[in-house]
Amino acid sequence: MIDFKSFLIKYAEIGVKGKNRYLFEDALVKNIVKSLESADGEFKVRKEDGRIYVDAMSAYDYDEVINALSHVFGIVGICPMIQVEDNGFDDLKEKVIAYMDEMYPDKNTTFKVYSRRARKNYPLNSQEINMDMGEAVLDAFPDIRVDVHNPKIMLNIEIRKQINIYSETIPGPGGMPVGTAGKAMLLLSGGIDSPVAGYMIAKRGVELEAVYFHTPPYTSERAKQKVVDLAQKVAAYSGNIKLNVVDFTDIQMYIFEKCPHEELTIIMKRVMYKIAEKLAKKNGALGLVTGESIGQVSSQTMQSLAVIDENTDMPVYRPVIAFDKQDIVDISIKIDTYDISTQPYEDCCTTFVAKHPVTKPNINVIKHSELKIADKIDEMIEEAVNTVEVIEVR
Ligand code: ATP
Ligand code: MG
Repeated sequence: MIDFKSFLIKYAEIGVKGKNRYLFEDALVKNIVKSLESADGEFKVRKEDGRIYVDAMSAYDYDEVINALSHVFGIVGICPMIQVEDNGFDDLKEKVIAYMDEMYPDKNTTFKVYSRRARKNYPLNSQEINMDMGEAVLDAFPDIRVDVHNPKIMLNIEIRKQINIYSETIPGPGGMPVGTAGKAMLLLSGGIDSPVAGYMIAKRGVELEAVYFHTPPYTSERAKQKVVDLAQKVAAYSGNIKLNVVDFTDIQMYIFEKCPHEELTIIMKRVMYKIAEKLAKKNGALGLVTGESIGQVSSQTMQSLAVIDENTDMPVYRPVIAFDKQDIVDISIKIDTYDISTQPYEDCCTTFVAKHPVTKPNINVIKHSELKIADKIDEMIEEAVNTVEVIEVR
């Protein structure tokens, strides 16, 4: 394989115009630089004429670089390319033929030349480049054929200050660069759904902070570690995540003692949302994010979600609200959280779950039940917010 020194980064520009375009590109460059810290070698990331390039300044591992770039939202395609000086068209022909020869040992294939001129003073126009270069490649390799409609190889030639030659595009994750859309507070449990929800919201450019409600000794240290591990997988896409671990045991016990058990999950969720909201406001997050999906469990009926929502005045984003479980599982496999999520450590909700939880809670009934915890709950919420353990996940 060719020892590529450069990668052309493709990103979607639709809807990203004017000033926003610079913000988008600058955030993308910054996130690319950051992601490449995970790969051995030295790299330069440059923005030039509406293009972003990654140049390897030292030896590097190709797979590591592709892996790093595949985690950067905003990238739609990664094109390993060679960049050559303009020494006339005959010289370019030689270089393109050498490229094709090295890149495709098996010439029994089809191709098409797709050229663009960013520089209009080049002596040939793009139509002429396509024709003449196509002919040169055909002459050099008797087995190769042109297919203008459905070529196996799209041979791109971009005439810029220098000339870019590439023909492979490795798909990127798409989305918007993280950091272009504010911050959200993810309620991250050890399950399958919430890490996927975090990934999806980060994909829209949203920076993440997370909160996990821990209930020792009902949930183990290992259950907490599982959440840290999940946060790490999400952070590979979203960038660093500040994980707030809330000690929820006293609150949970208090609700368990005072309130009807069939309402426990609803009331507990309402308190979780309130604590998450306070942490969000304290840390500049603009909304909450959860892994809820309509009808998945009793606390995720539309009635339950409405009652839970009622306890916060923040927007609650639920990226997987209309997803089937299998669709969520598919994403969790793709982002490598599935194997961690399915480890068997209990989370707090399974420990205290009632046999027959309400599925259509009434807000007035719930508020009436909450009178029984009115004495101490506000104080306990404050205490929980003020004693969070912060784990920086990177
Ligand atoms: P998940 O697969 O994400 O655990 P779930 O289907 O098990 O979700 P629930 O346990 O009802 O659903 O939780 C719904 C949502 O509430 C979760 O997706 C998560 O966002 C949040 N949540 C639940 N338990 C916790 C917890 N212990 N800490 C933080 N957030 C939680
Ligand atoms: Mg769960």
